[in-house]
Amino acid sequence: DRVISSEANAAEEQLEYSLRPQSLAQYIGQHQVKDNLKIFIEAAKQRQECLDHVLLYGPPGLGKTTLATVIANEMGVQVRMTSGPAIERPGDLAAIVSSLEPGDVLFIDEIHRLPRAIEEVLYPAMEDFCLDIVVGKGPEARSIRLDLPPFTLVGATTRAGALSAPLRDRFGVLLRLEFYDEDALAQIVMRSGQLFDVEMDETAAYEIARRSRGTPRIANRLLKRVRDYAQVIGNGQISLSLAQQALELLQVDPLGLDHIDHKLMLAMLERFRGGPVGLDTIAASIGEERVTIEDVYEPYLLQIGFVQRTPRGRIATALAYEHFGIAPQQS
Ligand code: ADP
Repeated sequence: DRVISSEANAAEEQLEYSLRPQSLAQYIGQHQVKDNLKIFIEAAKQRQECLDHVLLYGPPGLGKTTLATVIANEMGVQVRMTSGPAIERPGDLAAIVSSLEPGDVLFIDEIHRLPRAIEEVLYPAMEDFCLDIVVGKGPEARSIRLDLPPFTLVGATTRAGALSAPLRDRFGVLLRLEFYDEDALAQIVMRSGQLFDVEMDETAAYEIARRSRGTPRIANRLLKRVRDYAQVIGNGQISLSLAQQALELLQVDPLGLDHIDHKLMLAMLERFRGGPVGLDTIAASIGEERVTIEDVYEPYLLQIGFVQRTPRGRIATALAYEHFGIAPQQS
């Protein structure tokens, strides 16, 4: 049961749903993204058109799904949610898009995992709001064109680079979500605390924020665990010292690094003498999937300057040596 996993599990989804901001005003941080969106949304509403297709990219848990809902709310339309791997056949996509009302938002999570054949069906849907579907087989097969209501596709991906160029080019708005700073995360923790109806010191909210790897999903997850601890060990109130004790128990260090980060960094620092070392080699040596490292662990380690990417592989920085109390080895 890791604190830092990429996805929310089923039980957590309910919690996430209840904590989700509903409007741009409630959506904390990401000022550049919000400022841009405000203008695009306002302009589309003035023209009484639907919003241009939007691609959201950035590490998991930063608020892409939330933002899709916020966009729909701000536009005053419904949102339909699906994901790349869930759409297996052209018929699946046809069923979804043909059920949309004019102006609706279609959210496709993990859009880089959409099968290529589906992507091709999606292009005319995005460009001309129509679908070309082949019905029948063999000599009987013929293509029919279905007109669709205009809609806004909001796609989400952990890496924009993983998307095929033709698909990426069909999005009018590309927005990159950044890791949140401490103040924004503390605000998120305090907001969630209010929704949980739990009393919390501001210093405790900041302590949770600092250990959340810039990620709202992790902040909410830590808050939930700290709240349990407060309820069982304390009097239900979250003070700074209680938060620190609980976080200690969760094995999240003051930078928000967990045991996998530690394993990864120690492998880089000791076994590979600081690198350069390839991602596949690191993944194999610590028994993790390459994509997990690339999407979940590495972005934050890059962000805090512990790891750098070079053409020859990943290298550990002086900062990382210092944090782990290891002397750099001469090679
Ligand atoms: P993603 O789709 O990028 O993986 P989500 O949209 O599911 O991330 O966000 C995870 C959780 O973090 C949500 O339940 C939401 O409560 C919280 N969250 C995300 N962004 C914000 C934000 N800007 N303000 C407040 N809470 C947020």
